[in-house]
Amino acid sequence: MATNPLEILKKYWGFNSFKDAQKEVISSVVNGNDTVALLPTGGGKSICFQVPTLLREGVCVIISPLIALMNDQVKNLQEKGIKAYALTSKLSEGEIVTIFDNLQFGNYQFLYLSPEKLQSDFIQTKLKQINIQLIAIDEAHCISEWGHDFRPSYLNINILKETHPKVPFIALTATATSRVLTDIIETLQLNKPKIIKKSFYRSNLAYQIYDIEDKLYKVEQMLNKVKENTIIYTNTRRNTVEISNQLNSLGFASNFYHGGMKMDDKLDAYNNWMNETKPIIVATNAFGMGIDKPNVRLVIHMNLPQSIENYIQEAGRAGRDGKKAFSVVLKNKTDIFNTKTITKKTLATVPIVKKIYFALNQFFRISYGELPIETFEFNISEFCKKYQFPITITYNTLKVLERENILLLDENFNRKSSVKFITSKENIFEYCNKNTSKERLIKFLLRTYGGIFESAKSININFISNSLGITQNTLISMLKTINKDGIINLYIANSNTQILFLTPREDNRTINLIASNIIKQNDLKLQKITDLISFIENDKICRNKQLLSYFDEIYKEECGICDVCISKKKSLKTINLNELSSLIIQLLKANNELSSKEIVKLLSSEESEVLFCLQILLEKNILGVTSQNKYIIN
Ligand code: ADP
Ligand code: MG
Repeated sequence: MATNPLEILKKYWGFNSFKDAQKEVISSVVNGNDTVALLPTGGGKSICFQVPTLLREGVCVIISPLIALMNDQVKNLQEKGIKAYALTSKLSEGEIVTIFDNLQFGNYQFLYLSPEKLQSDFIQTKLKQINIQLIAIDEAHCISEWGHDFRPSYLNINILKETHPKVPFIALTATATSRVLTDIIETLQLNKPKIIKKSFYRSNLAYQIYDIEDKLYKVEQMLNKVKENTIIYTNTRRNTVEISNQLNSLGFASNFYHGGMKMDDKLDAYNNWMNETKPIIVATNAFGMGIDKPNVRLVIHMNLPQSIENYIQEAGRAGRDGKKAFSVVLKNKTDIFNTKTITKKTLATVPIVKKIYFALNQFFRISYGELPIETFEFNISEFCKKYQFPITITYNTLKVLERENILLLDENFNRKSSVKFITSKENIFEYCNKNTSKERLIKFLLRTYGGIFESAKSININFISNSLGITQNTLISMLKTINKDGIINLYIANSNTQILFLTPREDNRTINLIASNIIKQNDLKLQKITDLISFIENDKICRNKQLLSYFDEIYKEECGICDVCISKKKSLKTINLNELSSLIIQLLKANNELSSKEIVKLLSSEESEVLFCLQILLEKNILGVTSQNKYIIN
């Protein structure tokens, strides 16, 4: 068995050394301290609890907010031959018992848990029966209302400190304002924690913000210069497709990526980008979690990010290899105005939440005081159409209700439905004659989707039902009949969301209980936008300085490579040139004629600067040159 952290690192990860911050964190953990690790994204936080665990007997319990993140980490560990579980899906008590047996008696050492799972009495009991050596809270900023991703369920993690008072805790996050830090320490009741904070300063990353109308043209110019791995963020799914198409037609090989794509297409886009056959990816902020490519040279934001926290994470995907990289935001007056007004307009305010919550209960025919046990299928566009609610506000309201544990959402991202015709044109013709009610739909499909005999074509249920003036349900049942009759092959994607209610319906009373939270969260959302906008608009202070001071870090020097520093340097240069010119003129007045070498010597300036200056003075006809190559005043 390995006896020191470095051996473990080499053996399982194949890395030669720890980063300095990792060393500090690991030694604090090994010494049994409660620890808070504030390291930037990509700083290697996982290793900080994984390596110490492998040094000793006993289980490490990790609380993590996202199923995808947990599965990813478990997969990574398993590939190294390290045994780990993630309690994610619905498991029977029998299955849970087996898992805990393996944790107790088998050589399983890692258990990933969501904070929701932690609330289960059964799991709490089982946790008391195993030997836990370390408790890790990943993405610990979720505990704080001041973080950008607050989850109320994280507030209940402190139950672990009560049930396991002797076990050391490690909290990890990349978000590090002092408010968030205080919340983490207080909520988790950490005991004299060691706080290890690595500076968020990235000396190789040039933050540049440009005010620009023709954004695509600017992108083209930058891509011509950079020609390497690039991420372009934009705000809507449709924009990702459009911009990617435009870039492809300009000869830049790109893919698009957004949350609504089929898994296979996402994977293709991701792989093409990773292996650099298409080194440009145009994406919504759905592209990010777990992206760890070292040689990204350029990240472009075509629209404003949602907060400074989001910006620093997205921009921070550039230049992880330590070589020079650029993070560019393209903005204009309209963006700033839109971002402000859209954020305000789409806030789920208390009265709106009340109205939509009431409608939801009606929609599912839930009676007052009832807590239904079944999960409901929910189609947000149908619901919004019926009650005339705007989609974004409704979506934001659902998110609020989820955050406040009123209901649970399970989103099946819009996979595309598809159709392929599998019989001859003659048969279709005959079928239409016999089934006249289907004729219009069949003709519409044939007219709209070319190549539908050769391969399955993605169809847009919403678009077809609107075009034909029928409901989505009618459309789907018609398609199902045609499918059954052997005319088409049909795949209907389930675009619905599943909703499970967690508290009984009490209309306004339910919402009044959470009203102050809603107000606080909305204020915070607006505050974050305001902070972001003042950062974007402040072109007087070095970008790095601004970002660091947002994270309560003091940084005295200027980075020298952001847009602010560069424009300062430029203006400095013009001043110096003017000074140098007048010095040269004074010298020549006193000496009649001098060679460039003599001027350089007398002024003890840089030769290149003097030559540059002389050139300008010659061009302006202020100076002339003699046949001996000496400079004189004209
Ligand atoms: P974070 O959670 O801080 O964003 P991760 O734990 O996901 O970061 O690690 C980011 C990447 O850095 C991973 O690919 C990891 O393998 C790598 N990494 C971590 N520590 C080291 C190290 N000491 N040397 C080289 N690579 C490392
Ligand atoms: Mg992480």
